[in-house]
Amino acid sequence: MLVHCFTTRLGGSGGFNLGFNRGDSRERVVENYKKLADALDIDCRNMVLSGQVHDDRIYPADERDRGKGLFCESDIKGYDALMTNKRNTALVTFYADCVPIYLLDPEKKAIALVHSGWRGTVLEIASKTIDGMRNKYGCDPFDIQAVIGPSIGKCCFEVGEEVYSEFMQRLIWSSPHCKKTGLDKWHIDLQSIIKSSIVNAGVKEENICLTGVCTKCNKDLFYSYRGDEGRTGSMAAVMQLI
Ligand SMILES: [Zn+2]
Repeated sequence: MLVHCFTTRLGGSGGFNLGFNRGDSRERVVENYKKLADALDIDCRNMVLSGQVHDDRIYPADERDRGKGLFCESDIKGYDALMTNKRNTALVTFYADCVPIYLLDPEKKAIALVHSGWRGTVLEIASKTIDGMRNKYGCDPFDIQAVIGPSIGKCCFEVGEEVYSEFMQRLIWSSPHCKKTGLDKWHIDLQSIIKSSIVNAGVKEENICLTGVCTKCNKDLFYSYRGDEGRTGSMAAVMQLI
């Protein structure tokens, strides 16, 4: 019924980059997509690629979007979340420290993938996507299963006062997940804040899997924007109903 994955930096010679803006040739990146689709036993022509901008907009994808961003020009720009209730429409979102969130409603047979960096987390894009699934596909948050995947962890996500104050202004309840570690230095636990936010949106706590894996601490396995000092590749989350 469902195919899903999160890629690593391993799987090809010189890495397994899936981003077209990371310095690899287009041919090489497309080749990695073909390998990935083969490994998942899905058709790479069904893939729908997001155009992420660290905002909170959600794109409802359908059959007409297949191949966009990979085999044809994409008009899906400015969307950090993709959702669908169509089979054989593979959602693809990109990461190099930001948080991937997988959402599945097995009752209404709808899925979504959310890219949530600190800006998206402050904007509660994951919870807004759950609202989107409710409005568009009639999903009940009570039925939704969620996975919060590998991302930069609270151990490594250090920010200054300006980021911390965004959280305090918009999400005052997130203060237990923000720890002061020095003068104008804060560590923020994005994964836990997202978990609390989607619980507030109606998802049952026992239906949420929080991986707790840090991409920067494991940068031999994952691309990490901070761990690789900005020169890194993109990993992808993929989700498809079959
Ligand atoms: Zn870490």
